[in-house]
Amino acid sequence: MDKEKAVVGHLQELLSEIGGSLDKFLEFEHDDALHQDKTWRQKLNIALPKKGVGIEQVTSQIINDIIPNGSPVVKPGFTSFITTGATTSSILASTAAGIASPQRYLGTAFNFIEELSLQWLSELCGIKYLEGVYSSGGSVANLIALGGARQSAFEAIGVDPAKNGIDRPVSIYASTECHHTIQRSAGVLGIGRQAVRSIACDDKGRMISAELEKAIELDRKQSILPMAIVANAGTTNTGAIDPLLAIGEIAKKHEIWFHVDGAYGLPGILDERIQHLYQGLELADSVIVDPHKWLGASVGIAATFVRDRQILHRAFTQEPADYLEGSIEQQEQSEPSIEHSLDSFGIPYFDYGVELSAPCRGIVVWAMLKEIGVEGMRQRIIRHNDMAKYIARYAQKHPDLELMLEPELSICCFRYISTEVNDLDMLNQRLHRRLVRGNEYMPSTTRVAGKLAIRPCYIGAQHHQEQAEGLLNAVLSIGKQLVEEAKRSA
Ligand SMILES: *Cc1c(COP(=O)(O)O)cnc(C)c1O
Repeated sequence: MDKEKAVVGHLQELLSEIGGSLDKFLEFEHDDALHQDKTWRQKLNIALPKKGVGIEQVTSQIINDIIPNGSPVVKPGFTSFITTGATTSSILASTAAGIASPQRYLGTAFNFIEELSLQWLSELCGIKYLEGVYSSGGSVANLIALGGARQSAFEAIGVDPAKNGIDRPVSIYASTECHHTIQRSAGVLGIGRQAVRSIACDDKGRMISAELEKAIELDRKQSILPMAIVANAGTTNTGAIDPLLAIGEIAKKHEIWFHVDGAYGLPGILDERIQHLYQGLELADSVIVDPHKWLGASVGIAATFVRDRQILHRAFTQEPADYLEGSIEQQEQSEPSIEHSLDSFGIPYFDYGVELSAPCRGIVVWAMLKEIGVEGMRQRIIRHNDMAKYIARYAQKHPDLELMLEPELSICCFRYISTEVNDLDMLNQRLHRRLVRGNEYMPSTTRVAGKLAIRPCYIGAQHHQEQAEGLLNAVLSIGKQLVEEAKRSA
C-alpha cells in the first residue's frame, strides 16, 4: 500500500485486520501484560521516529505487540473496578463517530443523536423530565452538576459565582461513602474540599438522614450557605442506595439543591424488584449516570441531567469568541433558513459543561439501546443483581464463607472464614492476592465494618452466572490451601 495514500482512508482492510486481532484478544488465551515471558516493552521503547514506517507497520505493531498486552479489565472474571469491556455496538459507534463526526456539534445526524440519546437515557433511568449533557466520566459529570448547584445557591442571594467568584463559605452534604470526586469537585469549584460535610451512614452504608438534618442546622447557625446535598444511588464501595426520598424531602424543606450520584447504580432502577429504592429520585435537581459503567459503553461517557440546562449555561458559559460566534450562528433549534450543517452549532453543549471540543458520545448510547432495547438492558441488570444475590445466599449457607453485607445491587461483600486462623483480614488479603495472580477471577477487596471483604462487582455484558460460581469455587479452594499452609507452618 502506498504510504502517503494510507494516511487517510483504507479503513476497510485495516479495520478488519485490527478487528480480527481484537476478537482474538477477547478469547483471553494470552498471558497477562506483565508475565515474565513478555518482550513488548523492549520492542515499543524506541526514540521519536524521524522517518515514518507507514501504516502497515503501525498496524502490525498494534496487532502483535500492543493489543495482546492490553488490560485485564476486559476479562469476564475481572470484577474489581466499576469498569468493564465495551460492547461491540459501542465500539462500532464510537469508531464511526471518530471518523465521520469528530465533534458533537453542527447540524449532523450525530448531533441529532446526541440529544435523542440523552432523552432515551433519561427515560431509561426514570428521569424523563430532566435535560442532559454528556461528559467524559462521573468525575466531570459530578463537577458539572455541582457547578449547577453553586450557580443556583448563589443566584438565590444575588451573586453570580461563575462571573464574580464566591463571597462566603458554603457547604455540601454527602455521606461518608460518597465518591471522592465530590470533594474534588468542591476543590475545583473554589469551594474547598473541606466544605464537604461527611454525613454518617448506617451499617448498610446508607446516609442517616437525621444526621444530615443536624449538620444543616449547625451550618445555618454559623451562617454557612448550604449549596448541595449529594445522595448516592449505588455507592462505589458496596452498591448502597441512600434513602433518596427522606434526603430529597430534607433538601426541599431547606431549599437546597439535591444531587443524586447514580454513576454506577442508576440503571438499577430497571430491576423492578428494587425500583422502590429509587423513590425520591423525582425530587432531584441533578442526577448523573455513567453509561461506561453498567450500560457497557466504551470508556469516556457520562451524563449529567438537570431540570433546565440554562442553569448550566450560566454556570459554564465562556465569554464569546469571535472565531466561533462570528462564523456560526448559535441556535438551539434548526430554523427554515438553515440549509447547511455548518449553519448551526446545534445545541450548545459546550456551554453546559467544561469541554469545548468533545466527541460524539450519544451515538454510543443510542447504538447500545437500539441494539438490545430497554428489555435487553433490564435483563442484563437483573442478571447482575442475581449474581450478587447468588453469592450472598451461597456465602450465608457455606460454613467456610461469611456474607459481610446483603447486596442491594450487583456488588457482594463476603470473606473466607476459618476457626483455625486468627487473623482473618490477613487470610483474605493473601487469598485475594493469590486469586488475582491466577488471572481468572479478579474481584477487589474492601472493608466492611472494619473487616477485609472480597468484593466482586458485576456490571459487564460478559458477566454471567458461571463467573459467580467460578469465583466461589476459586475462593473456597484457595482458602482451604491457605489454611492448610498456615497449619503446616504453625
Ligand atoms: C465511578 C464513580 C464516579 C466517578 O466516575 P468516573 O467515570 O470514574 O469518573 C463517581 N461516582 C460514583 C458513585 C462512581 O461509582
